Amino acid sequence: MNEIQNYSRSPYGFLLQGSLEIYSLSLYYMCLEYEQKPDFFKKYMTRPHFIRSLRLTNCDSPLRHSPVFLRCRENFPQVIFMHRNFRIVPQIMFGSGSFNQLEDVLKPKRVTGGGFMVFIIDDVFSGKELEKRLPMRGKDLLVPVDVTHEPKTKLIDELVVKIRHYAPVNPDGVIGIGGGSTMDIAKAVSLMLTNPGSSADYQGWDLIETPAIYHVGIPTLAGTGAEISRTCILTGPVKKLGINSDYTLFDQLILDPELIEGVPQDQWFYTGMDCFIHNIESLHGCMLNSFSKAYGEKSLELCREVFVDNHPESAEKLMMASYFGGMSIAYSQVGACHALSYGISYVLGIHHGIGCCIAMNVLEDIYPEGVAEFHDMMKRHNINLPKIMPEDISREDMELMITTTLNLEPLWENCLGKEWRTQMPRERVEAYFRRM
Ligand code: NAD
Ligand code: ZN
Repeated sequence: MNEIQNYSRSPYGFLLQGSLEIYSLSLYYMCLEYEQKPDFFKKYMTRPHFIRSLRLTNCDSPLRHSPVFLRCRENFPQVIFMHRNFRIVPQIMFGSGSFNQLEDVLKPKRVTGGGFMVFIIDDVFSGKELEKRLPMRGKDLLVPVDVTHEPKTKLIDELVVKIRHYAPVNPDGVIGIGGGSTMDIAKAVSLMLTNPGSSADYQGWDLIETPAIYHVGIPTLAGTGAEISRTCILTGPVKKLGINSDYTLFDQLILDPELIEGVPQDQWFYTGMDCFIHNIESLHGCMLNSFSKAYGEKSLELCREVFVDNHPESAEKLMMASYFGGMSIAYSQVGACHALSYGISYVLGIHHGIGCCIAMNVLEDIYPEGVAEFHDMMKRHNINLPKIMPEDISREDMELMITTTLNLEPLWENCLGKEWRTQMPRERVEAYFRRM
């Protein structure tokens, strides 16, 4: 019984309860679980009545050559090999001035008589030209958001209550205009308007059941890849984790390079480096395949044109670099730099872009060429990173930071391979943090 309770939300739980005909598990997790709990796996997987077939997804990963995987394939005839079938944003408009077509894009979506659209916009634009250019009609609702702190589940729940109080029906659409934080808020709000409970209940993978309200993303910063990802990262009461689902993806993007032209230099650099780092981590990871390599290499080339060559079309190029970088990690994974950045973000509240730069700055032993290139780009743009680690940080905070970082197992595995634990003891992680 204990076994069932412990595993009730995992494949084992479903296997034990015999409640599934087909279960999908990623190749990566299968290899990991098979290695860690071989007896358990064997005991239940070899009983065909518990499960008719196990579908392994993401079989395009290089792990398909691993001995564990080959052994598992031999042992379990009911395994079906699947490749990840991920959704991407179905409609994209790109080009300088494309923001002007937002009205045309929204027109056919205004389907409810007397209905409305919700415009969620970074409050850095309050009273500014961009806000005045929004095609607000009838009962449309303007929701400026303050992204001084990265989005929290509490904020999402409050915004949903506000919109529900505003009108008895759901809006016809939610439009998010801003950087990664604002786009993530728009994604989360559009999901939570159709799904009951708190957004904290959905932090995880594929927990959303009802499709979101139609939602549009319009980036005003480039680098995170949030515009094309299937997640929206939220800090909840117990964890910082995204709502990952196919429904999270935007239905439409408007990529207008003019909108990123007035970004302050530091912020432009930090968010742009998020993209550069996505590519370094993806291209140096063991989960790389030809799909993510193609996108990662092109994105890296574009980053160099922007941050080394100062190309006159930098805004266009950075926007495409962000999109391609996001596509690259969609089929692979980030690595050590993102793992460390999550630790300092969770405990010290450091923002994503600058946090990734601070982490990258100390990772020369893992990504020697990438870090050298990063330092060169910093120098070219006169970027000085702040020292963020308090000398007197408490033991408790340090331990929490290390645990948060090491919990990101797929990131470490992608970076260092299956034996990553022996290479990354807690002391080594602490030594990185002490240098930040
Ligand atoms: P951001 O959205 O947090 O904004 C950073 C700052 O830039 C804010 O002060 C904002 O007001 C300002 N800003 C935005 N656009 C501006 C403009 N055009 N001109 C002047 N100032 C502007 O920054 P970000 O780096 O784009 O996003 C980081 C966030 O994205 C984090 O919350 C992170 O968790 C999230 N993220 C999400 C994903 C994903 O896949 N969903 C991936 C990476 C990061
Ligand atoms: Zn990132």
